[in-house]
Amino acid sequence: MLDTGVLVLNRVYQPVHITSVRRAFAMLYQGVARAIDAQFQTFDFDSWSALAAAAHEDAIGTVGRRIRIPRVIVLLAYDRMPRARVRFSRFNIYARDDNTCQYCGTRFRRAELNLDHVVPRSRGGASVWENVVCSCHRCNRVKGGRTPIEAGMRLLREPFRPQWTPFMAEAYRQRRHDAWMPYLSGIGHVAFEASQAN
Ligand SMILES: [Zn+2]
Repeated sequence: MLDTGVLVLNRVYQPVHITSVRRAFAMLYQGVARAIDAQFQTFDFDSWSALAAAAHEDAIGTVGRRIRIPRVIVLLAYDRMPRARVRFSRFNIYARDDNTCQYCGTRFRRAELNLDHVVPRSRGGASVWENVVCSCHRCNRVKGGRTPIEAGMRLLREPFRPQWTPFMAEAYRQRRHDAWMPYLSGIGHVAFEASQAN
């Protein structure tokens, strides 16, 4: 029981880590983290251990009482785990676009895809999240050195910088406890794909 996972959030409630129950209790006890319940209330060690553990809830027993096991804790210090940025890479573009050509909407194996600059490099288009999409070879050829408008092609959606991080993808893949889900929403199956292929 002490080795099952507890989701750790940073001070702005982003998931940054999965830790053991033992370590989570240590952080609570040391006052560097607070436990969060299903109603999003936070508790320090004393107030948490004063909560009654319902019979169906995971709890650890001490002599004469049971302490509920927190499934999510939030760090109090700001700089413990800085926010990670999603790296701009071929792999992560494919993951963001779910291996789907952003022009014809067909899903391909990765070997059959390449990257397309929406505004071509020859026109000053930058290699950034907002200007690079996943494209099949055929659409890439048809589009050539033109913009989508010039080529009469439409993007499935505007390319964007994803907010998920490799850690968040991993936590999403594990999804070990329902209590984690509110903090992992918005990551979705794209991140799931990314962590699968890692
Ligand atoms: Zn295509």
